[in-house]
Amino acid sequence: RLRPGDHAPDGIEALLRRIKSYNPKADLKEIERAYRMAERSHEGQLRMTGEPFIEHPLGVASILAELRLDTTTLVAALLHDVVEDTDLSLEQIEREFGEEVGRIVDGLTKLDRITFRTREQAQAENVRKMIVAMARDIRVLLIKLADRLHNMRTLEVLSPQKQRQKANETLDIYAPLADRLGVHRMKWELEDLAFARLHPKRYEEIKSLVEKRENDRQDYLDAVVAEVKAKLRESKLKANVEGRPKHLYSVYEKMVLRGKEFNEIYDLVGIRVLVDSVRDCYAALGAIHSLWKPLPGRFKDFIAM
Ligand code: MN
Repeated sequence: RLRPGDHAPDGIEALLRRIKSYNPKADLKEIERAYRMAERSHEGQLRMTGEPFIEHPLGVASILAELRLDTTTLVAALLHDVVEDTDLSLEQIEREFGEEVGRIVDGLTKLDRITFRTREQAQAENVRKMIVAMARDIRVLLIKLADRLHNMRTLEVLSPQKQRQKANETLDIYAPLADRLGVHRMKWELEDLAFARLHPKRYEEIKSLVEKRENDRQDYLDAVVAEVKAKLRESKLKANVEGRPKHLYSVYEKMVLRGKEFNEIYDLVGIRVLVDSVRDCYAALGAIHSLWKPLPGRFKDFIAM
């Protein structure tokens, strides 16, 4: 889960350190050059929060660094708003950073214009399909999602009506896209941020219910993780096992859409098992199913799908 504290709070240096930690071969000079160019181009522009505009592309790049993305994506992320919002042209970006970066920035600029026009009319599913078709390169989508996530984190500067509109759009279009791409950390945070804006009372209520259970939940989670680790070791599988709390919006969905009481929601925790290959995925799944039987109708083969 991405928390505000996870991303670079102290500017470009922290971002570069973070990138180096997961990708020693990353072209840090190129990333820093993109940052300087974005900073110069956005010079004098402020976000509605009052901070210098450069904090936004920097925040977007930091979210993508948490997802361990490559140099090209991070360079494009830092430059994602310059064509739309500054005097810098696409040709200049291509000349400075190459055709690939140019194509991604161009894709994002076009996407911004299109989603703006179709916001009201089309159904969410159609808009999502169009975004996917337009993006072509998956990195365009990832940057677009990070862009939305960063804007959602600082939504409170907008009017209440605008906040609701952005929150609805996030639930209808962007969170399902993140889900489709398998970037669940983004999906959860997008949903929780939108949920907090749309139903602040319910959000606080569920948050406090979940927090009250936190101790039990943590003990239970620790026990389950230990059991899974032991079983996988026994099966000679190299795996990383982590527990994760469910996000608040999924609890809300169960209560509202499926009419469950909070006490009936037993799956307040989930675990994540990371292995090195698809084969090991199935082996790990088999080992876990020998501990707990899957519920008929509830099991989904996310590995194959
Ligand atoms: Mn942006």
